[in-house]
Amino acid sequence: MTAKKILVMKFGGTSVETPDKIHQAAQRIKATFKKGYHVVAVVSAPGQMTDELISLAQEIVSNPDKRELDMLLATGEQVGIALLAMAIKARGIDAISLTGPQAGIVVDEFHTHARITHIRTSKLRQELHRGRVVIVAGFQGLNPREDVATLGRGGSDLTAVALSAVLKASHCDIFTDVRGIYTADPRLVPQARRIPRISYDEMLELASSGVQVMQPRSIEMAKKFNVPIRISHALDMQDTGSWIGEVKPMEEAVVTGLALDKNQVKVTLRDVMDRPGTAAELFTAIGQAQVNVDMIVQSAARGTTNDISFTVSREDLAPTLKILSSVQKKMRAGSVEKDPRVAKISIVGVGMKSHAGVAGKMFKVLADHRINIQMISTSEIKVSCIIAASQGKSALQLLHKAFFK
Ligand code: ADP
Ligand code: ASP
Ligand code: MG
Repeated sequence: MTAKKILVMKFGGTSVETPDKIHQAAQRIKATFKKGYHVVAVVSAPGQMTDELISLAQEIVSNPDKRELDMLLATGEQVGIALLAMAIKARGIDAISLTGPQAGIVVDEFHTHARITHIRTSKLRQELHRGRVVIVAGFQGLNPREDVATLGRGGSDLTAVALSAVLKASHCDIFTDVRGIYTADPRLVPQARRIPRISYDEMLELASSGVQVMQPRSIEMAKKFNVPIRISHALDMQDTGSWIGEVKPMEEAVVTGLALDKNQVKVTLRDVMDRPGTAAELFTAIGQAQVNVDMIVQSAARGTTNDISFTVSREDLAPTLKILSSVQKKMRAGSVEKDPRVAKISIVGVGMKSHAGVAGKMFKVLADHRINIQMISTSEIKVSCIIAASQGKSALQLLHKAFFK
């Protein structure tokens, strides 16, 4: 292949949701191509199509077969790539759309949250060499059974970063409906400020705490393969956006950003025997079902028993409850309770490592406004609290005011 630089440009669902936006994306790709880049565009399903396909499946059966669900969901991205390819060709630039499997993306067995194992780049390189813009369907790949599998919600970000890594792209450009990463979701906190540069570690904590703008696994991969990412607004060609990468400022901000996650459910197993091995048994069973547990709290023992509460994402509630009902019988534990009316609020910042009192300040702000903390978890650079969902938005705004004067 010629020594032209490769650029991966990813367009999210909102950036291809109307014919007009598809034309604007095509225009942007044409401009980049004309500057002399080999362009690989990664595209999501237009608008809310993935949600609509999930609802459609659930109208057929409440718990659809995962292989067939993947077959259905993968079609959303196919709509996006075909339409974008048409718009690019109409501008006199040769382009080809490829599904994830056609683009050589190989994934593992886990339907609906498959992991990319490797990418066979020969077809991609051939097409680029022919002078074509290559448009790849995000969020999907081919598994060892030769079935289509999807990469988990928001997985087009992962496709874009993985392709950037294997093709050694100069960076990965993510086009979305915001002008970068903000100190909090700008839809909820109008005063939020754009963060011009953010480290992989901080972005990973923010993404894992509910900042949906990037899928957490895509940041893990970007860090592993050192792929710089720029996030900017799809419709603003002048936007400088936010950069995610190795950032080493002379002094770190104590708090870089805040996140609100409304996708959590709290589950409690009451009256579990207080003896070694119970937590191991419970969480091993949950892990085997591929369910990720987020926060865990064990109450102080009352005599011989205690309660264990933890949070899982809403999608994982059904399999979690199924496991809990069998564990409950086996362990002769008490009732299983679920509370979907919770939200997780988090503050993230590398500077927390060297500044004491950040968690205390967070708890005080919440307490001063009578916001009860139900669970707490911390990492070196993050503090998260589970609170009532109804107080989530005001907690975010109050904490933003307290940490970003
Ligand atoms: P796409 O369809 O392009 O993949 P997403 O909906 O996944 O876009 O992510 C973009 C959205 O993320 C924005 O509309 C924004 O409201 C939301 N968001 C949440 N928190 C933040 C934040 N801290 N900074 C920027 N955007 C955020
Ligand atoms: N369309 C998929 C989703 O909505 C993947 C993506 O948009 O990144 O989750
Ligand atoms: Mg997204």
